[in-house]
Amino acid sequence: MPELPEVETTVAGLRPVLEGQRLTLVEPRRANLRRPFPIDLRQRMTGARVIELGRRAKYGLIVTDRDDVMIFHLGMSGRWRIDPAEIEKHDHLVLETEDGRRLVLNDPRRFGSIDLVRSDEIDSFAPFAVMGPEPLGDDFTGRYLKAATKDRKAPIKQLLLDQRTVAGLGNIYVCEALHMAGISPAKIGGQISGPRYDKLVIAIKQVLKAAIAAGGSSLRDFVRPDGELGYFAKDWLVYGREGQACHCGALVLRRVDSGRSTFYCRKCQK
Ligand SMILES: [Zn+2]
Repeated sequence: MPELPEVETTVAGLRPVLEGQRLTLVEPRRANLRRPFPIDLRQRMTGARVIELGRRAKYGLIVTDRDDVMIFHLGMSGRWRIDPAEIEKHDHLVLETEDGRRLVLNDPRRFGSIDLVRSDEIDSFAPFAVMGPEPLGDDFTGRYLKAATKDRKAPIKQLLLDQRTVAGLGNIYVCEALHMAGISPAKIGGQISGPRYDKLVIAIKQVLKAAIAAGGSSLRDFVRPDGELGYFAKDWLVYGREGQACHCGALVLRRVDSGRSTFYCRKCQK
């Protein structure tokens, strides 16, 4: 499942193909993904020039000179393919540029989405309206997190996965950052001290930046000649490592709550 670093890397892979280009073709190949394609997508995007690409949480943003923003979410299985030789069954949206490049959004499980909003209305796009700060942004600090979780009786892990606390953090990165910061995933949010929150924020930024750097350095493979903007694997400290030794020597444990796994070390994380 694509997480924030994959979306960041996907945007970086799309940028050289799309930025500055006029779109000569915008073709949805079915009516919907998780929700219907915008009914006027083809009309508003065809002929528009892409002026900028960006990311908010796990959404990619394609901004045009018509003051529209096409917002994509990769869902569980979405990926962009660049200049594919053939259009395949699960290619649900095709874009072509004036330079003759072709991009297709492939999404077998169709949990992804495409939305189209006006640039000046982007903050009121429903998923963005209630979202907390970007984890890599300057306003995401230990002090912010301490204030945001004040009096909260939920476990810190649950609070970090809540998009209202911080935007776009997925299960893997929360498990890894909590381990790096030495904080138990079950620790009550309101009971964590300021200095420990400072440490947690540093860990979150570090684990995300390392993943983005790994994605960026593999971008050449990532945008392979066959054109798949794929996902990258990384070696995690605790995630997916149940029963293996933590660096402290204790075994990594796994707990499942409402279908979601938490990986942690009881010795390192208090
Ligand atoms: Zn340990």
